[in-house]
Amino acid sequence: MGNIHGKDTRIENLVRKGLFSLGFRYRKNDKRYPGTPDIFLPNYKTVIFVNGCFWHGHEGCHLFHLPDKEYWKDKIAENRRRDERNVSKLLDQGFRVIIIWECAIRKKDDYVSLMLSLADEIRKGKNKLVVFPDDELKI
Ligand SMILES: [Zn+2]
Repeated sequence: MGNIHGKDTRIENLVRKGLFSLGFRYRKNDKRYPGTPDIFLPNYKTVIFVNGCFWHGHEGCHLFHLPDKEYWKDKIAENRRRDERNVSKLLDQGFRVIIIWECAIRKKDDYVSLMLSLADEIRKGKNKLVVFPDDELKI
């Protein structure tokens, strides 16, 4: 979230591109909102964060191993806390929040199905907080 070190802009851009081609219009890195959401969809009052599994500490994920060095442990713990704070602020402000973890789009097949479920979720979803992947983590 925000422009923190280690941000995976490649995956972020893939999601943006996909949304654009599916007809969505958005703003990127809108600083007016908590956590500077990677994608903000004004027509849906929805924000999307694309999180790198390592830097945001994706628990139980095969792309995330807690490092040995205290410095990095603290950094990741701090990122996690910040993410949580921002998400609850956004929910309080009436936004829908969608979090996409990097591991949801590692493969090309994942990408296509992710974009379709994402589009569906944005248009019809009812949950205020949605996380991809939503299934059990495959390790
Ligand atoms: Zn992950």
